[in-house]
Amino acid sequence: MSFSASIITLFPELFPGPLGASVIGRGMADGRWSLETTQLRDFATDRHRTVDDTPSGGGAGMVLKPDILAKAIDAVSPEGDARPRLLMSPRGTPLTQAKVRELAAGPGAVIVCGRFEGIDQRVIEARQLEEISIGDYVLAGGEVAAMVLLEAVVRLLPGVLGAAESHADESFENGLLEYPQYTRPQLFEGREIPEVLTSGDHGKVEKWRRAESERLTRARRPDLLT
Ligand code: SAH
Repeated sequence: MSFSASIITLFPELFPGPLGASVIGRGMADGRWSLETTQLRDFATDRHRTVDDTPSGGGAGMVLKPDILAKAIDAVSPEGDARPRLLMSPRGTPLTQAKVRELAAGPGAVIVCGRFEGIDQRVIEARQLEEISIGDYVLAGGEVAAMVLLEAVVRLLPGVLGAAESHADESFENGLLEYPQYTRPQLFEGREIPEVLTSGDHGKVEKWRRAESERLTRARRPDLLT
């Protein structure tokens, strides 16, 4: 059974975008994951195909209407669908590699992309949307955030990365940032590859990498160590 992603968006033409390229795109062509997009506007009922309205209580911008979005969610993810329903949102739980791993182990995801000021709170509650943020900054819409999430998830699916591109000691997989990487030439603009890496002593290489990982994590992301 392959990972099934369904996206609800006002901009389906943005997909697959980067998700169609390289290993992620090949994974889709190989049937390891699938992507379906749904145009939220198709669920509007008036002749202007309205999906948003002004915020209750006043203020700038527009809010996505709960009734239209609920209909779209119900069409994409009928009762019994085991996939988690996610809402990309700067207010959400920050996306981590642990969450990415959890999603990759599941059947897929239904992902709602917000636009404008966001979406009506009642549909978040009524459809149990899990809010996920990709970082502490504000995007113009949830589409790029959904792509970030899916790209991180799909590369973990079995068979998507070849053995040659394994992710066992990548950043975050062991709670640390990755050690520095080098490749030929041996000498680049006066800089040598650290000698230990060309010594052929695997024990020493492992120790050096571990020490570098710890040093970088302490310097850049001490929060990961606590
Ligand atoms: N007014 C909202 C921001 C709306 S941005 C607020 O202050 O919280 C419009 C849409 O972009 C959001 O509904 C969400 O789907 C998406 N978005 C913006 N920033 C995001 C982030 N950091 N992570 C995930 N989605 C984000």
